[in-house]
Amino acid sequence: MKTIPQTIDALKSQGIHSILTQFCDIHGVAKGKLVPLEHLQEWVEQGAGFAGPSIWGTGLPRYGARSEYYGRVQLHSLKALPFMPGVAHAVCDGYAGGQPLDTCSRQLLRKQVERLQARGWTLWVGIEPEFFLLEKDAQGQWQVADREDGLDKPSYDLKAIHRNAGFLEDMRAALVALGFELQQIDHEDACGQYEINYRFDDALAAADRYMLFKMTAHAVAHKHGMVFSGMPKPLAGAPGSGLHFHLSIADAQGKAIFSDAAGPLGLSAQGHAFVAGLLHHGDALSALCAPTVNSYKRLATSHSASGTTWSPVWKSYGDNNRTCLVRTVAGRIEWRLPDPSCNVYAAIAGTLAAGLDGVDRAMVPPAPYDEDLYERRAQGGDMPARLPRTLDDAVTALEQDQVLVDAVGTAFCAQFVKLKRLEWDAYSQHVSDWELKAYADAF
Ligand code: GLU
Ligand code: MG
Ligand code: MG
Repeated sequence: MKTIPQTIDALKSQGIHSILTQFCDIHGVAKGKLVPLEHLQEWVEQGAGFAGPSIWGTGLPRYGARSEYYGRVQLHSLKALPFMPGVAHAVCDGYAGGQPLDTCSRQLLRKQVERLQARGWTLWVGIEPEFFLLEKDAQGQWQVADREDGLDKPSYDLKAIHRNAGFLEDMRAALVALGFELQQIDHEDACGQYEINYRFDDALAAADRYMLFKMTAHAVAHKHGMVFSGMPKPLAGAPGSGLHFHLSIADAQGKAIFSDAAGPLGLSAQGHAFVAGLLHHGDALSALCAPTVNSYKRLATSHSASGTTWSPVWKSYGDNNRTCLVRTVAGRIEWRLPDPSCNVYAAIAGTLAAGLDGVDRAMVPPAPYDEDLYERRAQGGDMPARLPRTLDDAVTALEQDQVLVDAVGTAFCAQFVKLKRLEWDAYSQHVSDWELKAYADAF
């Protein structure tokens, strides 16, 4: 590890003059400012200062009249930004009053990770970003940036890769320059929808990397006159965007504790218990993993004009079954609930706590499903319990789930619930076009 003066020299020799200090607000939206490189010592030890009450969900003022939020630079994270010459990016931890801030989602994930490390365990997370490229039309209406009509099955469409080849190539080059190990880039299930996959990391690094991914995607899309959208369900008749987490835990010897090649579904008893914990806490986890009004439109729909949406609807699991909430894949667990509107730190922290609760209480999951659950539903079969249908129900479930409240901490939870209730109230009071069409002249 380099000293601070050595780090400054190394960055200066790459032409860097400024640091983009980045943290995220309670919604998981990146925030930050540009500060001069030469004061790195101050940014590391004291932090870059922000007006706390101007940031969603810090809960400030709580530390005196000035209630500053300090983003302390994490030295290991400094990386030259390929799309901002002269600028290096730095991940920051939130501090206030000289203490780690209890509403900082990065700090709360770190606590969960430390809890796991106390057992000698490491959580590995592979995050799978799906997203839309959007733009506004001449009337100011949001549209997908790639409007090729009449595609029956848009998935893996090569022409859609060609149509956005400039964006995809700039993304590839920027991500590689930032140290991402890319695995694949595809056109996903709807027009204008893509997915870019890269290697897994430990939990905290995976969350930091996803924030960097989003920032890169926003910048590159902007350069191409488009908007990178993590809205879970921008198009009513098309699949939505998920942000699946591939999860595995390694013990102190590096052995994957969920995996047992001889066990059912390739999972050990602990793997099954972890899945049971996820299903058991599924309602409350929805508030953290699918935290917007719009998230529940993704989770409600199993079919789109071109076939299935592959979105989870029922609390279920199955081997390589994409119609379930949990898909098991060769001793790994794919958690399909999260969508890109989540605060990725809080979503991982909650997911880990839920799974560990399953392990600690040796929970046993119900039977897995082999069949396509959407077909089963169409044929009138008995279905597993549904996920919450609204943000309001999910937030209520979170408030009532002590394991998850403890995982994110009461301070974060109180701020989160307050803001999400306001969001729900604003939405509930809105009268939509659908309602006018259905009711205006109906009665
Ligand atoms: N877009 C789907 C979702 O909403 C997932 C598609 C896939 O399995 O890749 O979760
Ligand atoms: Mg996908
Ligand atoms: Mg997936």
